[in-house]
Amino acid sequence: MRNELDQLRSRMAEITDLRNTAHLLEWDQQTMMPPRGGASRAESIATLERIRHDMFVSAETGRLLDAAAGELDGADSASDDAALVRVVRRRWDKARRVPTELAAEIARAGSIGQEAWVRARANNDFDAFAPYLTRNLELARRYVDCFDTFDCPYDVLLDDFDPGMATADVTRLFDELKAALVPVIGEVAQHADRVDDGPLHGTFPVERQRQLVFEVVERMGFDRAGWRIDDAVHPFATGLGSQDVRITTRWDEHFFASALFSAMHECGHGLYEAGIDSSLQRTPLGSGESLSVHESQSRMWENMVGRGRAFSGVLAPRIAELFGGSVADLDATSLYRAVNRVEPSHIRVEADEATYGLHIVLRFELEQEMIEGRLPVAEVPEAWDARFKEYFGLEVPDPAHGALQDVHWSAGLIGYFPTYALGNLIAGQLWEKAHADMPDLEAAIGAGELSGLREWLRENVHRHGAKFSTPELLQRVVGHPIEVAPFVRYLRAKLSDVYELDLP
Ligand code: ZN
Repeated sequence: MRNELDQLRSRMAEITDLRNTAHLLEWDQQTMMPPRGGASRAESIATLERIRHDMFVSAETGRLLDAAAGELDGADSASDDAALVRVVRRRWDKARRVPTELAAEIARAGSIGQEAWVRARANNDFDAFAPYLTRNLELARRYVDCFDTFDCPYDVLLDDFDPGMATADVTRLFDELKAALVPVIGEVAQHADRVDDGPLHGTFPVERQRQLVFEVVERMGFDRAGWRIDDAVHPFATGLGSQDVRITTRWDEHFFASALFSAMHECGHGLYEAGIDSSLQRTPLGSGESLSVHESQSRMWENMVGRGRAFSGVLAPRIAELFGGSVADLDATSLYRAVNRVEPSHIRVEADEATYGLHIVLRFELEQEMIEGRLPVAEVPEAWDARFKEYFGLEVPDPAHGALQDVHWSAGLIGYFPTYALGNLIAGQLWEKAHADMPDLEAAIGAGELSGLREWLRENVHRHGAKFSTPELLQRVVGHPIEVAPFVRYLRAKLSDVYELDLP
């Protein structure tokens, strides 16, 4: 008999339906909704969140959890049932400390904040955005105050994006990463003239770019029967179950790399959602658990595959054919070197792999200061600019190239940024292991055959959905917790190749 487990599953199925509906509204807000729809959309999202939160944190969920745990009867801890009870219990313990009104208000303020951010960024006006950031921080602090079980305020937020990850762990990993990256960036900077990214700039009609992007994501596993790709200001991916995956990208007529690599990145996220076992659909396990692991997928496809030497051999002739003109003679090596040029720059999403980590460290530090009340919102641009100068040696010309560039703070997603850099580290570990398991992987990628890598990732990562935390998953796949060294080895080897150096 497993009556109560089935009831728990049914309850979680309805809660998952509500979450998918909210995701659909959010997707629509960022792709289709006319600008004036923002106010009523925020109310709809808040109402859905209120209903979902109430249903989730109810005593009935707790009763079903207790009863279902009793029915597990020694089930393997890696089984779907045991994982369901474990993951729901952890989330329930956390969520029920949060009043429903606060959860709904966080959702509402995030939705309103995003609309305000789009306008403020377009007008380069941080002051117009400041009240929304102030509001989101105030709500985040109230959220943090619901807990007395974490070591520091930032831990509460980080745990929502990567369960079990602590601020102290991230600080240690980032210190190690920073120490490894700074000399590499310095060495490369002395040979900056060796690499030319000229081929990436020119005139590339958007319709041709769409064709290139479609060809590439279809090689990766995009399938029109279960996927969509649309345009968005800030590219993202969302899954409404494994059979309805939505990805987005943005287009720049003078720089094809933006749309291409954003699409590969988001398709990497989409493959994760599409690859989750059907047995986990309509449960809280039917979506990636940690955003760090999610980001390891997107960053791997974008950078290790997309900007890799092997795949450059597939891309270069198609780029030459589709656009002609300035890139009519583009060869694989020129493309490979151009897309891996290292240069300190202002915009995180356009940063090269070496400087990318520093963008994250900067946000990680500022967020902790904001949430602990050490950095007032009015002083954020100044603090940003000063630290940017320190890390990158560059002046910040305006807020759109500084503190206003990312959507996250407007949406109340504080604690999210570290997962990007952690994702790079995890990608480094998985990439090494995939090569050890598949010695012919580079040759396959060079032949445009990406299904081997995709299926390896599906088998080792995707199919498990949220069953395992980041450390548990890494232990299973690579036999080691998260570490810096594999990513740094990968990056040094690549930049030694690109810059014809022997990096330290
Ligand atoms: Zn991503």
